[in-house]
This record gives sequence, structure tokens and C-alpha cells, in this order.
Amino acid sequence: MTDIALDPQLVRADFPILSRVMTKGRPLVFLDNAASTQRPVSVIEAMDRVYRNAYANVHRGAHTLSEECSDLYEQARHTVARFINASHVEEVVFTSGTTMSINLVAHAWGEERLRADDEILVTQMEHHANLVPWFQLAERTNAKVRFLPIEADGTLSLDRLRAMLSERTRLIAFAAVSNVLGTRNDVAQIVRIAREAGVATLVDAAQHVPHDPTDVQAWGADFVAFSGHKMLGPTGVGVLWGRRELLDSIQPFLGGGNMIEEVTEQGFTTKASPARFEAGTPPIVEVIGLAAAVDYLSRWPMEAIARHEHRLTEVAMAGMSRIDGLRILGPAPDQRAGIVSFVVDGVSPHDLCKFLDLRGFALRDGHHCAMPLHRSLGIDHSARASFYLYNTVEEVERFVETLAATIEKLR
Ligand code: PLP
Repeated sequence: MTDIALDPQLVRADFPILSRVMTKGRPLVFLDNAASTQRPVSVIEAMDRVYRNAYANVHRGAHTLSEECSDLYEQARHTVARFINASHVEEVVFTSGTTMSINLVAHAWGEERLRADDEILVTQMEHHANLVPWFQLAERTNAKVRFLPIEADGTLSLDRLRAMLSERTRLIAFAAVSNVLGTRNDVAQIVRIAREAGVATLVDAAQHVPHDPTDVQAWGADFVAFSGHKMLGPTGVGVLWGRRELLDSIQPFLGGGNMIEEVTEQGFTTKASPARFEAGTPPIVEVIGLAAAVDYLSRWPMEAIARHEHRLTEVAMAGMSRIDGLRILGPAPDQRAGIVSFVVDGVSPHDLCKFLDLRGFALRDGHHCAMPLHRSLGIDHSARASFYLYNTVEEVERFVETLAATIEKLR
């Protein structure tokens, strides 16, 4: 089963937006998947179906629509739990996205567990979503945020990680895959090192879950966060996976409806997880859309998707490395996912991406919400091409050719 090859042409037929024609009749080549992906018809239709046939608030009504919608919502939790191999469905908390998931942990777990002078270890390659909540937590608790630097090749050194752990380290919060360098970190190893030192772990898996097989039990971390919109699902929905006993041992971050067992004039008691972390009306249709996205991704083994993206990355990097003055950020293809960020001598990433856009290529420029990383590389901005299952080798070859011609023109 894992030898199955993915046929991107078949995939493309499921994504209406990919037939959009851009300026001067040029076909769209969508290479901004690390920011957000596109949606297949099955996701759009699943959401449409709920709105047309089965929409009502969940967990509240005795009426048919509410029951049907609640069933779909809870089935979605099972779908996601299976996809990441969670041992208990109650470990899957629906949030609004990776950012919310990490903030939830920073508030609910962090404020309870951190004391003055405790240390939170992050890496230099983190997205701001996995930095700012820890800085904020540090401000509230007088804890400290320490940075594990990256090596010259854009990877993390486990020896350096071990050396940075102190008796005050309480948490290692790190990305499974860097959204700029594409570096794939050895999550299970990092978690093992943390566990041996009695340190908790949060994995920012926003760039991992959509592209690679994910097994939260094999990782063994305490918390894992990811977003629906980066995996063919809608915006406004994401997941926090947490170990069951841990989730039940911490106090909810948000208070309101749905998360309570009882409210009296004296106070309240809370439900068990996941409900205790889902206060208020959740993103009902988005959660159902996320399950449809997982179903879509599950048509192939995730290994096949990862292999396809790896091939695209190899083609891109081989071609780009022949362009004079172009520097690719991060490690060799074997150590990275389908993300290739780069800078070009004498050409601004912004101008480059604007010119590529005129030729139908959608890339991102900027700091990609990773300012400390860019600064550590001695740059402010970069351009980024990021691939997904619907991109083709032919698109990537055309991208490399157009990139070379554009750079020539801009110089
Ligand atoms: N972490 C990583 C590695 C990301 O790439 C992103 C999004 O770009 C995020 C966190 C934040 O995700 P969201 O904006 O969906 O909350």
C-alpha cells in the first residue's frame, strides 16, 4: 500500500481553483501552500451540505437538526483522532487553529505549571505563533524564554539541545517542520530527550500533519498543534491534541457555554476534556469540513503525498541551485519537507514575487512570521515556494525556468 504513487493530474481535477486563468491567460501555479492550501470539491460540498441540510448548534438541542449536526461534529473528532493515531478521541480538542492551540496551552498549562525563573526552550526556527505566546507567558510568570540556535545547515543539533536543558527547563516548544527552512526535525528524538529530563513538549505540527504521516503516540509529546486550512480544510479550525490525563489535569483557558458541568451562583464545575476546552459555539461547519479534508487526504497513504512533495523539492532545488546568486535557505532535500525559501543577490524578494505573479506563479515573500530566524540568517525577508499534492513536476520545472528569466530581467 505504501508504494502507491500519487497522480497529481487526477488530484488537480478535484480542485476548481487550480483551473483559474491568471493575467494574460497564464495558468495559475499555486506555490504558497505553506501559508494556506486550496480546497477540493469534496470539502466545499461537505460544508455546503451541512448548511443546506443539517445545520444547527451542536450539543444543545433535542431536535433532529441539532442531533444530526452534533453527530457530524463528533464523527469529525473520530476522523481526526484516527488520522493522527490518537489513542483516545477525547484527546482531540478543536480550536480555531495552531495559534489558538498554542495559546491555549500557554494559558491553561503554562500559568499553572510555570514559576519565576523557569525556562521555556524554543528554537530559532519557530513561527511567531510558537514564540509570542511563550514570551507573553514569561511576562505573566517571570519565566524565561531561551532559544536553541540552528546549525549552519539549518538543522537542530540534539547535542546542543541536551546542553541547553537545565533544571529550570519546563517546556520545549518546537516545530516538527520549519515553515521557512523546510527542516524536518526529529520529533520523537527531541521528545525522548525532553522526557528523560522531565521536561514537557509541545510540537507545532502545522507544517507536518498536512504532508507526512503523523503518529502522536509514536512521537510521545505532551501537546501537538495544527491547522485545518493548511491541510485542504477550511480556515477558522485547528486542533490541539494533548495527552488525556494532562488535558484533564489542567484548568480550561476560556469559560462559557458547553465547557461546564454545572453553574451555580457560587461558581461552576467543568466537563472533562475535550469539552472543557471548547467553550462557546465551536466552528461547527469548519470542523465538519476539516473531517472532509482528512477523508480526502486519506485517499492516498500520507507516505505517497510526502514522496511526491519530496520529488518536487528535489527538482526545484536542483534547478534553483544552478541560478547564479541564488541562495536556498535550509538543509538538503533529504532533511526537508516541500518548502524552499531563498534569497537572490541584488533582487528583493518582494519584486521577485510580484514579477512571478504576473506570470501566474503564486509565491510568498516576507519574513513568513519568523523574524528571529531571518535575523539569525542575516536577512530581513525571503521568497518561498511551497508544494502540495496537486503541484506537478512540470509546474516546478516551469517555475525554475521562469524564476531564472525573471532574475535575469530584474538585475
Ligand atoms: N506554525 C507554523 C509552523 C506555521 O507555518 C503557521 C502558519 O503559517 C502557524 C504556526 C500558524 O498557523 P495558524 O495561522 O493557522 O494559526
